[in-house]
Amino acid sequence: MKDRIFEIISKYNGDSYRLMDILHDIQAVAGYIDHATIALLADKLPLSAAQIEETVSFYHFYSDKPLAKFNIYLNDSVTANMNGRKEVLAAFEAACGIKQGQVTSDGTLGLFPTSCIGMNDQEPAAIINDKVFTRLTPFRVKQIVNGLKHGLSLDDLVVEECGDGKNALPEINSMVCNNIRRKGALLNHDYKLFSVINDILPNTSSDEIIDIVSESNIRGRGGAGFPTGLKWKFGSRAKGEHRYIICNADEGEPGTFKDRVLLTEYPEMVFEGMVTAGYAVGADMGLLYLRYEYKYLLSYLNGVLESMRKNNYLGKNISGIEDFDFDIRIQLGAGAYICGEESALIESLEGKRGEPRDKPPFPVEKGYMNLPTVVNNVETLATVVKIIKNGADWFNKLGNKDSVGTKVLSISGDCRFPGIYEVEWGLKIGDVLDMCGADNVQAIQVGGPSGALIGEKDFHRELSYSDLPTGGSMIVFNKNRNLLTEVVLNFMNFFIEESCGTCSTCRNMPYVLREKLLKVINGRGVKQDIEDMTSWARLLNVSRCGLGQTAANPIVSSIKNFRPLYEALLNHEVEYDSGFNLETSVLESCKVVGRQPIFHHNA
Ligand code: SF4
Repeated sequence: MKDRIFEIISKYNGDSYRLMDILHDIQAVAGYIDHATIALLADKLPLSAAQIEETVSFYHFYSDKPLAKFNIYLNDSVTANMNGRKEVLAAFEAACGIKQGQVTSDGTLGLFPTSCIGMNDQEPAAIINDKVFTRLTPFRVKQIVNGLKHGLSLDDLVVEECGDGKNALPEINSMVCNNIRRKGALLNHDYKLFSVINDILPNTSSDEIIDIVSESNIRGRGGAGFPTGLKWKFGSRAKGEHRYIICNADEGEPGTFKDRVLLTEYPEMVFEGMVTAGYAVGADMGLLYLRYEYKYLLSYLNGVLESMRKNNYLGKNISGIEDFDFDIRIQLGAGAYICGEESALIESLEGKRGEPRDKPPFPVEKGYMNLPTVVNNVETLATVVKIIKNGADWFNKLGNKDSVGTKVLSISGDCRFPGIYEVEWGLKIGDVLDMCGADNVQAIQVGGPSGALIGEKDFHRELSYSDLPTGGSMIVFNKNRNLLTEVVLNFMNFFIEESCGTCSTCRNMPYVLREKLLKVINGRGVKQDIEDMTSWARLLNVSRCGLGQTAANPIVSSIKNFRPLYEALLNHEVEYDSGFNLETSVLESCKVVGRQPIFHHNA
């Protein structure tokens, strides 16, 4: 094994920035990354054992203990639970003969929970050794486990149930379905691939490209909504020996899966968007950060890049433009929601824990390797290609005054037609619900757990950056759902699990708030608990990044819009009770994120 590890290190030229790849390769051959391996790596790389250990321990899909030959990661998202996860888990436990969190004694099968894997439209779903299994039923679970026990390969188990479109290509061979329900200006197939690289870039200056993007008024499609043209302008002006373009394909917001579909059906447009950004900004390298859960697309995407290189859409003097050299590499993540935050993503690309950086400086000035870096979302980059092709005016005619263009929505939950819908900004929530076949609706979660849970009184509101912004995630809940136990509790558990633990507010408050929520759910709540949750949630505003700043949103927005659900569970006889111990709760929250608590008691 020692020789194999040395070979892997040489494959990456001993580059510590490629630690994520080195760890992925080691885990693939050894099954896990133990202390002896970490010591070997520390000997050969310019990193300490503690630094390597920090990275290994941070990510969900690295393990320092032996795993099984087949590791089943069963999604525990809200929609998985709504679609029968409980029964599917019971079937896995019965078929494997183990409980969740365990490995069989012969080391063949392991069963673990995992956060949203981007399959909300086809739940319950699981990842087994990088292969995604969707629409699981207890019957299907028995077949899968029996097949694995009898020597069938994962590919054998998928082949009869391939998904639609390119999911059925041999290089993907996946049972994932695209579920594209509505196409608009981005998704319609009216674009001849690579015509921007072929026909427009050679005749347009980089400043002119930035001007078109600025005049189009496109804002980032990942959720933050920063003007893309401005970001490119800052990137192009920043000083540095090299500049980088990063495509953020780490869509981890529960309920969103549109980047999965864009990468499956429109990868050329995404990569062409990166090349266009590279040309505009003066970058020579692009990095696409692919979330680990989409590893099943990796070799297919690398194949697309290879074919682009053969056609001089990547490489030197692209499309005959002298000195325009640009190439793209795909970096696989390892399972951490926080890496969707751009500076955390850059830390991860550099082989470190995905902990957000303090800002300023912003990545456009000091990003990857401390050099100017423009980070854009998958949908933004694909859309830019159409903007350059059709012009800024064309784009400004789509959407409304406040938010121009279209938005690709990922709709799931209690509706007849879950899937991908491209709509113009400005669409009313009521129309969204009609469009996806949702009846008897109690609530819709707009923008994932970090967004807002809204009810009927808000169905007249519009999707837009100034009214209801969304990165794309929309989850519908009908009137039979228990919003507090099925939705709010699940989302709070998600934030507790995904906090990187750097800020005391973010590592403690979501846990403390969850304890208060449970107190109410379990019938021990009093009126003061609602007031406490509302005021304590404000403490999270000082957290370093968006995760912490929005981690209380499930509780805050449900109290705001569904307060009677809380009040119905309260003990109204008591004004204040002592059934909640803040110190114990903080201590427990520190254990969850593996940090030592520090209490300052007054003497
Ligand atoms: Fe980490 Fe949370 Fe702080 Fe963000 S807010 S840096 S996720 S601890």
